[in-house]
Amino acid sequence: MPTRPCWVEIRTRILEDNFRFLAGLAAPHAELLAIVKANAYGHGLELCAPAAVRGGAQWLGVTSVEEGVAARAVCPDAHLLVIGGVFPGQGAEAVRHALAVVAWEPWQLDELEKAARAAGGAIAVHLEVDTGMSRQGVAPGALAPLLARFGAGSLLQLDGVMTHLFAADEANGLVTAEQLAQMRGVLATVAAAGLKPAWLNVGNSAALLGGQAETIGPLAAEHGMHALLRPGLALYGLVPEYDPAFEAEPRTLTEARQKLRPVLSWKSRVVTVREVQPGAVVGYNGTFVATEPMRLALVAAGYADGLDRRLGNRFSLLVRGQRAPLVGRVSMDQAVLDVTEIPEVAVGDEVVLLGSQGDQTISAFDHAAATETIPWEIFTRIGPRVTRFPV
Ligand SMILES: *Cc1c(COP(=O)(O)O)cnc(C)c1O
Repeated sequence: MPTRPCWVEIRTRILEDNFRFLAGLAAPHAELLAIVKANAYGHGLELCAPAAVRGGAQWLGVTSVEEGVAARAVCPDAHLLVIGGVFPGQGAEAVRHALAVVAWEPWQLDELEKAARAAGGAIAVHLEVDTGMSRQGVAPGALAPLLARFGAGSLLQLDGVMTHLFAADEANGLVTAEQLAQMRGVLATVAAAGLKPAWLNVGNSAALLGGQAETIGPLAAEHGMHALLRPGLALYGLVPEYDPAFEAEPRTLTEARQKLRPVLSWKSRVVTVREVQPGAVVGYNGTFVATEPMRLALVAAGYADGLDRRLGNRFSLLVRGQRAPLVGRVSMDQAVLDVTEIPEVAVGDEVVLLGSQGDQTISAFDHAAATETIPWEIFTRIGPRVTRFPV
């Protein structure tokens, strides 16, 4: 059965191309883990994880064991990393689906070790170090008891050492340099414990496009390791904003602006067109009142689909290749456009909420600016009832 017309189109070929391009930027310094957490940033895991693999991704990153199980179902051969850690009782599933898991707490290692022993196997662990974000990770000074859990005879395999560069979008690079200096010490501690992890797992889209692979790769090589960077947003075709900006933009960033293309478009249709007279009120609480004869188009998209309620009276959507203002409040399932200036608008016309139509484009950055958030939140808030179609 056709669905109510509020849908997302995913250009899987573009996602493949984006991955290939990013892998080329990272080479020869680093390999990439494609971040597909949170339903591939709202783009749809089942479409995007296999597309990343077709583009050449050998590693995929998910938040949780349950996301890892879903990714395993569509990517049987990829290395899957659970970046949000394991929770009590999840170890057995992690082992069964051959997930690698980020860990930093002794109880997480207990959970994984118990599950590995029960299954008669081993499990790959990426040990996260807190180099300044105070989110996940063990303090560099508290590594010793965790490192003692790995090594000969342990079912826990130290496959990677990880940290998160939490200010890689600050182009002066001061915070990042300080974090990488800490990692140099961490890697020395790991080596002194007799451990030889394969991966130095560091850095998001901003780090990669900011040219950090050139620094992280040699740091990994000093310890016989390989660098693994973890782009998310760039994979979906967006270039993060840097603040402060670069004085001289690195080649990696300039090329990314030319090559990356957005993967997602979000669309709906006109349900009804009506004429209203001056004085007509539009939507809940009449926050918009017509001052002249107007034509209004009802659109089948509302805040339950992820169209932010704060956009009412302050944003436009695309119809017939032109910008039509949202008037009145956005409802749960519907919104109203002023199409007075676009007289040819008719029932059934396609409406673009995010994406391009004609020579007009609305980006996730536009949505984010209008609602004081970031593109990551715009994408992940597109609701589960909005069907994702490959195109
Ligand atoms: C989400 C996430 C990323 C990807 O970040 P982007 O800015 O989207 O590239 C990388 N690493 C970790 C640990 C993350 O949680």
